[in-house]
Amino acid sequence: APAPPPARHLFSDPAEVEVLRGNLLAWYDRCKRDLPWRALAATEPDADRRGYAVWVSEIMLQQTQVATVIDYYNRWMQKWPTLQALAQASLEEVNELWAGLGYYSRGKRLQEAARKVVSELAGQLPRTAEDLQKLLPGVGRYTAGAIASISYGQATGVVDGNVVRVLCRLRCIGADSSSPSVIDRLWDMANVLVDRSRPGDFNQALMELGATVCVPKAPLCGECPVKQHCQAWRRKLFGKPPPVPDVEDCGECVGDCPLCPPATEPWDSSLGVTNFPRKAAKKPPRAMRTATCVLERRGCHGAPEYLIVQRPSSGLLAGLWEFPSLPLAQDLQEKKEREELADHLQAWMGRPVAAKGLQFIGEVIHIFSHIHQTYVVYSLHLDRDVTLDPALSPSRWVTEEEFHASAVSTAMKKV
Ligand code: SF4
Repeated sequence: APAPPPARHLFSDPAEVEVLRGNLLAWYDRCKRDLPWRALAATEPDADRRGYAVWVSEIMLQQTQVATVIDYYNRWMQKWPTLQALAQASLEEVNELWAGLGYYSRGKRLQEAARKVVSELAGQLPRTAEDLQKLLPGVGRYTAGAIASISYGQATGVVDGNVVRVLCRLRCIGADSSSPSVIDRLWDMANVLVDRSRPGDFNQALMELGATVCVPKAPLCGECPVKQHCQAWRRKLFGKPPPVPDVEDCGECVGDCPLCPPATEPWDSSLGVTNFPRKAAKKPPRAMRTATCVLERRGCHGAPEYLIVQRPSSGLLAGLWEFPSLPLAQDLQEKKEREELADHLQAWMGRPVAAKGLQFIGEVIHIFSHIHQTYVVYSLHLDRDVTLDPALSPSRWVTEEEFHASAVSTAMKKV
């Protein structure tokens, strides 16, 4: 077993932990934001409904800002107020409501999990973090802990990006915060800290602190309810060299402390508390180019209509609709791009398409988490109707209004 980390990185004093809990909860009671899922979790008497409400909000909040989520969450809960209702929805409906929220597999997995709960678990959500994580597809350790603590009062900690930041600052953890060994330590800490009588509120308070006070770039340490427990803040206040031994850069840590900053990247006084957390540099996103064509025809009422086709049911933007598109090799000549797109469109049109008939409109750049995507956009007006081949991917003609109501990604809306 690995050696336990030095005590200065832990919360080993029960009296200190008690004070920290009390201060954080008192602050949360005073300052918490009014959010629809919080109101529902606090007032809903039915445990399954509480669990469902927290589950939906947590899945939506992964990778998406609170301000964006609120409207999606309200519409979702209005349309599918229970997981039984969600289990009966079609994937198309789920994708339509999710359109614009990004990371589309989240909605799909939520619906698959709801079906599983109805068909295999008699409609009842598991009640512990361990079972939630084990039995529900798409529910990881964090989401399971959040549902179990907030909805069912299980005294289990949670670690999300906000909690990582707060804990790393509280305990001067400067080793790579995305490494498995550091993440394990942070989970241990979260489980030690969590308040036994108000675990859901405590976890939300820790996350709320990270979201509103202990923010990444300019934390509001002066207003922080736990500053007297914060080693990074004390380190900043006392400057270098520290006047008291317990706030030294490495205190009792000797040799290669697994939680201290690497010796090659010591404390930088110009950064203050934002010395923590530290992460290994991320890989830059992969560059991709895709040719896409807005095919337009005059509909039966004279309004323009556009062809959209459905993407495969797995992979990036699974099951969403888009204008006919074709990934391109990098560094292709413009003429060659046109020819390849024209060949591709031929399949949809059932007749040859002249490359020079494609009108270049412009380029649209969209950043997915790991892909820097450039859409090279063309348009083509059709003077007569085309018969779509049912053997190809599903496709349909839509008006502009129908396009916006369809399950299309933000990238396609930009196109
Ligand atoms: Fe974060 Fe500052 Fe509070 Fe420490 S004192 S937890 S760095 S806001």
